[in-house]
Amino acid sequence: MADTSIYETAFAGRPRYPRPASIAKADVAVIGGGLTGISAALTLAEAGFRVAVFEAGRIGTGGSGRNGGHLCQGWSSDFSKISRQLSSEDADIAWQTGMEAVDLVTSRIAAHGIDCDLRFGYLHAALHDRQMRDLDAEQAEWESRGYGHFTRLEGSAAMAAHIDSTAYVGALHDTGCGHIQPLKYLHGLAAAASRAGAMICEESPVRAIRRGRVKTLVLGDGSEMSAGTVLLCGNAYLADVALPEMKARLAPVTSSVLATKPLSNNMARQLLPTGAAVADCNAALNYYRIDAENRMIFGGRASYSNVEFGNVEGDLRRRMAQVFPILADVEAEQVWSGRIGITVNRIPHFGRSDDGIYFVQGFSGHGVALSGQAGKIMAEAVIGDATRFDVMSSLRHMPFPGGPLRTPALALGMAWFKLRDRLKI
Ligand SMILES: Cc1cc2nc3c(=O)[nH]c(=O)nc-3n(C[C@H](O)[C@H](O)[C@H](O)COP(=O)(O)OP(=O)(O)OC[C@H]3O[C@@H](n4cnc5c(N)ncnc54)[C@H](O)[C@@H]3O)c2cc1C
Repeated sequence: MADTSIYETAFAGRPRYPRPASIAKADVAVIGGGLTGISAALTLAEAGFRVAVFEAGRIGTGGSGRNGGHLCQGWSSDFSKISRQLSSEDADIAWQTGMEAVDLVTSRIAAHGIDCDLRFGYLHAALHDRQMRDLDAEQAEWESRGYGHFTRLEGSAAMAAHIDSTAYVGALHDTGCGHIQPLKYLHGLAAAASRAGAMICEESPVRAIRRGRVKTLVLGDGSEMSAGTVLLCGNAYLADVALPEMKARLAPVTSSVLATKPLSNNMARQLLPTGAAVADCNAALNYYRIDAENRMIFGGRASYSNVEFGNVEGDLRRRMAQVFPILADVEAEQVWSGRIGITVNRIPHFGRSDDGIYFVQGFSGHGVALSGQAGKIMAEAVIGDATRFDVMSSLRHMPFPGGPLRTPALALGMAWFKLRDRLKI
């Protein structure tokens, strides 16, 4: 699997966070230095907790430093899957929590002066009539709850104002969503957390946790540290220390991204005149945007079997050329892959053990904004207000069928959705 994202290459001089020699104990140990873990650490440090983050690689090694950069509102699933499990009061809390995810990003960018190329504007694009009807249903549901950022686009004239492609029958244009350079954002948060007193430790894998009222973390080099509370923020990358109830409820899926060489200003403006990010409505979707350097950042090609098959770059190019034929021969600057954690119902899985281990996982490809919100909610629960955490952790999560064979079972299930998308039914 290609493993260096364009964000890492372009931000080679990003700060390092070596582990301080003196860490022996903390109030809270956070495992995972992605958006979830760093967000939780920032909230906890700002509240005066002694918090240490342990990251196996460098900050952003996981999904947070290698995603498409799409900044999306709300939860990743149809909201009725959440609301039908809750009282109307709790459903309102869950709705509001999802809706505040992007606001949290913008307020933190402003509060900490983070330069991360934030841009608003998004197209949820329909490839055929059934997808347009699904978007209509989503618009009706979201607007009935007060969301006021959608404009319905149907037909080529309406679409042409936003995208130079004949691939779509219509779209919802959404001014509440947008895109960012995710690694720059994550590093902005990490710097803020560090300034607030969080100890951030890169190259510090946690190999085991000895449970009890006080937990002992055993690190890769054999050293140990203790903490009263532990937050598991490793999502699809969580190695060694997942709780048993987490494992069967998360399936890692590989997604890949291609960054072109920078396009000319004219070409960039021609392809996406309003600078919106775009995602189609297929189960194995294409998602793309033009970044601040005019590169097309084109993602797609999910592998539900987690076997890297064929030519990743060739496949992404083919997908990109189907949307924008003019890009068929454009030079690629970088191609990389990463692991997305999905749950059966596509709702993030929150939980905690009786002895003070909290977790969240399974953002289902929708975590750039939500993971920060999830980290904050976990931190709030530790600080003493578990209202939002309790609502989210009350949602039921089915294990994936197939036990250890769940990835092939998932691949089989996804084959049906992909076929449905191909047949446009
Ligand atoms: C290719 C790709 C494209 C995506 N595109 C989008 C998008 O455009 N929009 C969107 O909203 N979402 C997208 N996502 C999903 C989004 O990136 C994730 O939901 C989000 O980054 C999850 O953040 P996290 O902090 O929970 O996990 P991660 O960012 O994965 O961080 C987990 C970290 O935990 C560390 N870790 C694991 N185990 C241990 C251990 N034992 N000890 C120490 N450290 C450990 C890992 O090294 C890793 O850095 C994409 C994901 C991928 C892979």
